[in-house]
Amino acid sequence: MSSAENAFLSEQEILVRESARRLAQEVVAPTAAERDRNSVWPREELKTVAEAGFMGMLTPQAYGGSGLSFVEYCLALEEFAAADGGFATIMHVHNSTGLVLRGHGTEAQQQRYLPEIASGRSIGAFLLSEPHAGSDTAALRTTARRENGDYVLNGTKQWISNGSEAGFAFALAATGEPGSRNRFSLFIVNPKAPGYKALRVENKLGQHTAHTAQILLENLRVPAEDLVGEEGRGYAKVLGLLSEGHRGGGGGDRPGGAGGRHQIRQGARGLRQAYFNSASRQLRPRRYGHAGRSGAAVHVACSAHERCRPALHQGGCDGQAVCQ
Ligand SMILES: Cc1cc2nc3c(=O)[nH]c(=O)nc-3n(C[C@H](O)[C@H](O)[C@H](O)COP(=O)(O)OP(=O)(O)OC[C@H]3O[C@@H](n4cnc5c(N)ncnc54)[C@H](O)[C@@H]3O)c2cc1C
Repeated sequence: MSSAENAFLSEQEILVRESARRLAQEVVAPTAAERDRNSVWPREELKTVAEAGFMGMLTPQAYGGSGLSFVEYCLALEEFAAADGGFATIMHVHNSTGLVLRGHGTEAQQQRYLPEIASGRSIGAFLLSEPHAGSDTAALRTTARRENGDYVLNGTKQWISNGSEAGFAFALAATGEPGSRNRFSLFIVNPKAPGYKALRVENKLGQHTAHTAQILLENLRVPAEDLVGEEGRGYAKVLGLLSEGHRGGGGGDRPGGAGGRHQIRQGARGLRQAYFNSASRQLRPRRYGHAGRSGAAVHVACSAHERCRPALHQGGCDGQAVCQ
């Protein structure tokens, strides 16, 4: 690993990144291509990664997690994304459920569910989007009505990462009348309950390791104690999760939770790095045109690598000196 890569990292951050890189390359990468080709859920790989503590990264140690900081978490995600982008998607969605429960759940909810999530025994999912409502969360139609002290949820959720494999999930549903303020509430739902049905796993263009499912909630009973926060306050929690500025009450033992966009960006960084490494390995031995100089193909690879861009613009990148 280059010293420039570590220049602004603490010893602990370097250690986390190195152990994530090792695990990702040894356990996740070797099976990635075949898994992606056949849309196979990485059951065994997830088990190994969970044993090493990477499924409860933002969960405090007191609840069975690793208690990493958000920076350490992002560094680790980047390494897993470099091995398999879909695998990193599973991990970030799952780890985020622990973060949200930590930020918004009661002490009883945290004690009950966090150890399950952090150990990877229960894979986490978020049931927010619906077939007719993605970014327009206010248009959601899933309802939660009160019945004998429980809530009963009905509706269809769409594009749910981990939804078909989940053991723990959050669902957003309307408890108020259409048009009313504070209409939506957030619930912990049990994907193993009879009213939770994975109708299909979507056939996506990529990220096949990460299963994205359509979920039918059909008279799904949720005990009142699994309401998260106050009734009618779920929308703000979800926006907090999705937004850049969310600081979620601190995920790990140390402060610094943050929103989903940061995590998705880290995944993209990992993918970009893997692309660059692979293109560079492939193209470096080639020589085009003038003797001894790498040609256009290496420059194309280099242009994906931000450290190389200034040299490229000045016409000085030879694909060797800068892109080591
Ligand atoms: C691989 C994958 C995994 C996912 N995982 C989950 C998950 O785990 N849980 C979950 O709940 N959801 C999940 N989603 C759904 C995701 O959150 C939605 O796709 C997202 O919210 C966007 O919604 P949409 O696709 O309906 O797009 P739309 O809401 O239709 O938006 C399409 C485009 O139109 C723009 N737009 C929308 N409204 C307006 C407007 N009024 N004015 C101008 N422009 C507008 C948007 O910015 C966007 O560029 C997943 C989606 C994918 C593809």
